[in-house]
Amino acid sequence: MPTAIHVKRLNSSDPGFTEILLSSLSLPMADDEAIDAAVVQILAQVQAHGDAAVLDYTKQFDRLSVASVTELEISQQALQQAYEGLAADQKTALDVAAQRVRAYHEQQKIETGCHSWEYTEPDGTRLGQKVTALDRVGIYVPGGKAAYPSSVLMNAIPAKVAGVSEVIMVVPTPDGTRNPLVLAAAWLAGVDRVFTIGGAQAVGALAYGTKTIPAVDKIVGPGNAYVAAAKRRVFGTVGIDMIAGPSEILVLCDGSSNPDWIAMDLFSQAEHDELAQSILLCPDASFIERVQASINQLLPEMPRKKVIETSLTNRALLIEVKDMAEACDIANQIAAEHLEICTTDPRQWAEQIRHAGAIFIGNYTSESLGDYCAGPNHVLPTARTARFSSPLGVYDFIKRSSMIEVSEAGAQTLGAVASTLAHGEGLQAHARAAEMRLK
Ligand code: NAD
Repeated sequence: MPTAIHVKRLNSSDPGFTEILLSSLSLPMADDEAIDAAVVQILAQVQAHGDAAVLDYTKQFDRLSVASVTELEISQQALQQAYEGLAADQKTALDVAAQRVRAYHEQQKIETGCHSWEYTEPDGTRLGQKVTALDRVGIYVPGGKAAYPSSVLMNAIPAKVAGVSEVIMVVPTPDGTRNPLVLAAAWLAGVDRVFTIGGAQAVGALAYGTKTIPAVDKIVGPGNAYVAAAKRRVFGTVGIDMIAGPSEILVLCDGSSNPDWIAMDLFSQAEHDELAQSILLCPDASFIERVQASINQLLPEMPRKKVIETSLTNRALLIEVKDMAEACDIANQIAAEHLEICTTDPRQWAEQIRHAGAIFIGNYTSESLGDYCAGPNHVLPTARTARFSSPLGVYDFIKRSSMIEVSEAGAQTLGAVASTLAHGEGLQAHARAAEMRLK
C-alpha cells in the first residue's frame, strides 16, 4: 500500500494568512538550551585541555579511539590516493564540479570588488582600500550522518580563490570510516590539512588551537545543531560565515510545469532532514492538486521516504495565490534559501525577487544542479536571513584595510576640521595632534 500524505494547504486569501505563513517559517537556529549547555562544556574542555579533550570527545561521539591527534590527520599523499582511486565517472564528475565552482568564484572575485583601490585628491592626499586574504581558515565539513564532498568544494574553493594561505579542514569520521569522495574533493580543492574530527570539539580546536591543530582566523561551513551552537559561541575569537538552519526550498509555479518535476524538487530539500522546509506558491489550484498527486505517486520509490514524509507532513506548504505578482511578494517575505521559478517567463518574475539565497530560473534549473555543479555556492542563508545576508563567496575570505595618506597641503585643511571636532568632543590630544601639523 503506497504511502499517502497530505501536505498542508493554504490560500493567500485565508484570514490571517500572513501571520499563519510567517509562524510556519523560520525555526530557531542554534538556540536549543540543552545543546548550547553541552557545547559550552565541550568548548571549555577543548580550550583547557586541547588535544586531550579532542581525543576524548572523538572517542565518545564518533567512536574513534586513537593515541594522539596526529593520528587523526590525513596526509596529502592519502588525499591524492583517494582522488586517484576514484571510479572514472566519479573522478570526472568531481573534476567538472570543481572546475565550474572555481570558474564561478574567480569571476566573482573580479566582479565583486575583491581587490584594492585608491584615488588621489587635488591636494595630493591619497585614499583607498587595501584588500588582503585571511591567513588561515577552518572549514567544517559535516560527516555525522552523511558525507558531503560537494561541501568540501563549496567551502574550500572560494577560500583558495580569495588567496587564503592555509585551509584546514575538519570532518568527523564516525567509527573511523573515511569517505573517499570527501578526501578526493579536499585534494582537488587544494585543502592544506585535514583532521578527522567533528562537532563542537572540532569548532573549539579550530577556534582556540591545540598543540596539534592550529588556530584559524575564521570558521566556515555547515553542520548540525552542535556545530551551529559552537560557531555562535566562538564568534569573536574567530570570524564565522553564518549560523545555518535547516534547508529550505520555495518553488514559484504558474502551472505550466511538469508536476513530477516540481514534486521531486520539493523532495530534494525534504530529504536533507526532517526539519527541512519545502513550499510551493502557485495561482493554479488544479496544478497544486497534480503536484500533491505526484508527491504521493513518487514518494514510495524514494530511499529516504521516511525523512521526506516527516519533513513534508510537518513543514511543507502548498499555497494557492491570486497571481504570479502576489507569489513574488510572498516569496520576498519568505526570503527562502533556494527559490525556483518554474514559469513560462521566469526572467520577468526573477526581476521581482529581492530576497532569496539563490534564484533558480526556469524549468530546467533544478535546485539540485546548484547543489553540486552549476558553479555558484551552495552554502546559502537560511531562516529568512537572505533579507540581510548572501551566499558564501570569495568576499567571505578577504578583509579590507582603509588606506589614508594625507599630503602636507591636505593636513592644513583636514587639520582645521579635525581640531574643531576634537575640541567639541573634549579630546585635547586629538586636537593638538592635528594642530601641530598646521603651518
Ligand atoms: P555533523 O558533522 O554536523 O555532526 C556530527 C558531529 O556532531 C559528531 O562528530 C559529534 O561530535 C557531534 N554530536 C553528535 N551528537 C552529539 C551529542 N549528543 N553531543 C555532542 N556532540 C554530538 O554531521 P551531521 O549530524 O550529519 O549533520 C550535518 C548537517 O549539515 C545536516 O543538518 C545537514 O542537512 C547539514 N548540511 C548543510 C549543508 C548546507 O550547505 N547548508 C550542506 C551539507 C550538510
